[in-house]
Amino acid sequence: MAVVPVLVINSGSSSLKFSLFDMTTGNDILSGSVDRLNTRNAELNWHQAQKKHTTPLPDQGHSGALQAVNNLVTRLSLKEPLAGIGHRVVHGGETFTDSARITEATLHGIETCANLAPLHNPANVLGIQVMQALYPSVPQVAVFDTAFHQSLDPEAFLYAVPMKLYREQGVRRYGFHGTSHKYVAQQAVQQLALNPESHAIITAHLGNGCSATAISDGFSIDTTMGMTPLEGLVMGTRSGDIDPGLHEYLSEQLGWSIADVTQMLNRDSGLLGLSELSNDMRTLTEAAAGGHRQARQAIDVFCFRLARQIGGLAASLGRLDALIFTGGIGENAADIRANVLQRLGVFGFELDHDLNMAHGDSRGQISTSKGPVAAVIPTREEWMIAQDTLRLINETPTN
Ligand code: ADP
Repeated sequence: MAVVPVLVINSGSSSLKFSLFDMTTGNDILSGSVDRLNTRNAELNWHQAQKKHTTPLPDQGHSGALQAVNNLVTRLSLKEPLAGIGHRVVHGGETFTDSARITEATLHGIETCANLAPLHNPANVLGIQVMQALYPSVPQVAVFDTAFHQSLDPEAFLYAVPMKLYREQGVRRYGFHGTSHKYVAQQAVQQLALNPESHAIITAHLGNGCSATAISDGFSIDTTMGMTPLEGLVMGTRSGDIDPGLHEYLSEQLGWSIADVTQMLNRDSGLLGLSELSNDMRTLTEAAAGGHRQARQAIDVFCFRLARQIGGLAASLGRLDALIFTGGIGENAADIRANVLQRLGVFGFELDHDLNMAHGDSRGQISTSKGPVAAVIPTREEWMIAQDTLRLINETPTN
């Protein structure tokens, strides 16, 4: 049978991830990453036919890394040419409410949003430009982390700061992880047989970055991340919500600059800052089980704050049909799910301990039949990007 190959590129500031899907089966033919770009230790790791391979790529940047990916794809000698290339783009501002075919205007739009994501968007643009040079005749699509949340109403996206800052500087809440929240909510509707026209779902994407979203009838109406991915939940190394007065306090007490505070909130906080041990939840759950009190406390702050935010998102929805856990922690950490659900007794969740330990039944459900459904649904962001890429190519066949 003919394959319909779509390549997905996630070009970050210091690493690059890629997956090649056969759209007829949904299987990935090839996937991998190039880590530590632009250093002597840069290295290409990839999986093909369940085998793992590694090639050093010393001192290679985005261009060299994508050329190496191109070599891998060429070596496959696929029967069909690439049908499309999908790029993950972090920030689409208010310009992009959906994925977009890459044109001059799209690239310009992504560059215009770069002041909102100065580390990420320029790396995304670089990835697109290199792939355009390597594959000039293959249609390319940008899929934005923010686009799914463009359905938020002003009451949910405005900060209570002078409106001039919104009008002139774009200061507002945007939300991130949109591709994952959208995918998982769509799967939840199917797997849990929810009404496609009328549903109220909260999705909790818990990885190194964490965010939760309230989804009403397929639309994001509230989410925990804000203007940047720093707002909201406690994460691996990010603080989530703090009092904005902290900046002035640390400046006066310690002479810290804005950059010092920003670095601390992004890199030294969250689970790592609280535990003084690790940003990795698996390490912390193992340490806590062995009696490490600070690891236990870090986990409890993580779960407390998550439960509190889920309560807020439920208020935004007005009712709650299902709570979905996804991401590395959401999919694998049964004790974290149990901890959070225990704190959400007000909603009437009843955990089925056996199903929770098994990471869900065939539909992903981990709750008993009483009360709202709690479920585990693995995210597949790359697959969603590949699907969106094909959809956009079919919707707009020519540039
Ligand atoms: P990213 O946001 O980088 O894609 P992932 O979604 O892979 O990250 O999630 C990484 C997190 O998932 C880490 O904190 C890791 O410890 C956690 N995790 C993965 N497996 C388990 C497990 N079995 N138990 C607890 N935490 C886990």
